[in-house]
Amino acid sequence: MLHTALKLSKHSGHMSQVVTRFAPSPTGYLHIGGARTALFSWAFAKNQGGKMLLRIEDTDRERSTEAAVVALVDGLKWLGLDWDGEPISQFGRAARHAEVAHELVRLGHAYYCYCSPAELDQMREEARAASKPPRYNGYWRDRDPAEAPAGVAPVIRIKAPLSGDIVVNDHVQGKVVFKAENLDDFIILRSDGTPTYMHAVVVDDYDMGVTHIIRGDDHLTNAARQIVIYNAMGWTVPEMAHIPLIHGPDGAKLSKRHGALGVEAYRQMGYLPAALRNYLARLGWSHGDDEFFTTDQMVEWFSLDALNKGAARFDFVKLENINGHYIREASTDYLYDVMLATAEELDRGFDVDGLKANKATVLAALPELQPRAKTVLELIDLAQFIYASRPLTIDAAASALLTTDSRAILSDMAELLRGLNEWTVPAIDAAMRTLAESKGLKLGKLAQPLRAALTGRTVSPGIFEVMVLIGRDETMARLGDQFGTV
Ligand code: GLU
Repeated sequence: MLHTALKLSKHSGHMSQVVTRFAPSPTGYLHIGGARTALFSWAFAKNQGGKMLLRIEDTDRERSTEAAVVALVDGLKWLGLDWDGEPISQFGRAARHAEVAHELVRLGHAYYCYCSPAELDQMREEARAASKPPRYNGYWRDRDPAEAPAGVAPVIRIKAPLSGDIVVNDHVQGKVVFKAENLDDFIILRSDGTPTYMHAVVVDDYDMGVTHIIRGDDHLTNAARQIVIYNAMGWTVPEMAHIPLIHGPDGAKLSKRHGALGVEAYRQMGYLPAALRNYLARLGWSHGDDEFFTTDQMVEWFSLDALNKGAARFDFVKLENINGHYIREASTDYLYDVMLATAEELDRGFDVDGLKANKATVLAALPELQPRAKTVLELIDLAQFIYASRPLTIDAAASALLTTDSRAILSDMAELLRGLNEWTVPAIDAAMRTLAESKGLKLGKLAQPLRAALTGRTVSPGIFEVMVLIGRDETMARLGDQFGTV
């Protein structure tokens, strides 16, 4: 499914269109940090009327499975992010990477190195003994290739500058200066002809016509090395924005416990993609104090200069609040579909058939339930009194309300309700008040066992509304379950 050919028009000489890319390594899922990087690359491209491309960095053949690529693509699609053209396989472009490496040799900016592992070990030892960082010492840099040992397949190393500065002018980090003396002549092509990651990224970004690289700041030092390759080829260095990584609420590196999960885990926890987009956008980018914004607004407002330099802290409570907002705003049709899809996907004993059979009632109840839920899972749970099949499972707190006395009252209630001419909230309300008065009880005292019997819980939307929602027959049947026959 991945493409290797690039049919993009690039480097045409005139002011080029903005091209960003998302370049994930397929490690099994779309990580939450990667999702944010993708969102920023996407929003910036859209803001600029440009394109975002997708490159799968699948050179690690052990870890790059087709399933991992599918998981990435699915994660992006669920989040509502799209890209231009087909996803591009980095691995599939190995021949082009090799071609550029050899071109660099021809240009005199790279060279073959024939050092054996033993020689490299010795080099490191010597550096250590001289209290220098263990680096390649340039042994083959200016050596006559005629001295090459027979039968040794060489690697290709780039000639990194020996002195001066390498400057990364970064939209987030500002001007970051790396001393050339700290970079050695790193390998761009291995002896088996495969490219190193550092080299492949540059060749791909160039060939894809990428104008803006937006990625995590763990790649900042790579940027310095990559600039060496750009300069050697005489290619324009793309604009760069290295965004601070996401940390946990305690400031530590994001761990699983903090939320370092794949986006599918967020889907399964019941977060809506629009909410996650809004939340991730706020995690490292801001537009004044705006907490909530639509995706269109984000695209309209997005700029690299508003990316924050400080590390963002992942906060589940904030995410929940944002999600609650989106649940309140969502249409009932959409929410029902998400509830059903979630219930079907998760093997948690949700009554999927009940949810399907009672679609109309669930839809009618949703406006009552929406303000009470922060996640889709809560929504499914809150709606269970509608679709659960009889006899209802009554939770412990509700069971405690269903005493012998209160069951007797439920029986009286059923009697009264059976005689009602209309099944409306005012009619039920009036009947219940009459009953409460005749028993010398407060209305609330009657409502408690009623709620327990009809929903199996102690909390629910207004109980008379519940009765109208589930209808007279179901109400009578559920009451009957508590005191025998109806
Ligand atoms: N494949 C790299 C990663 O997943 C990203 C490389 C890049 O953006 O230049 O971290």
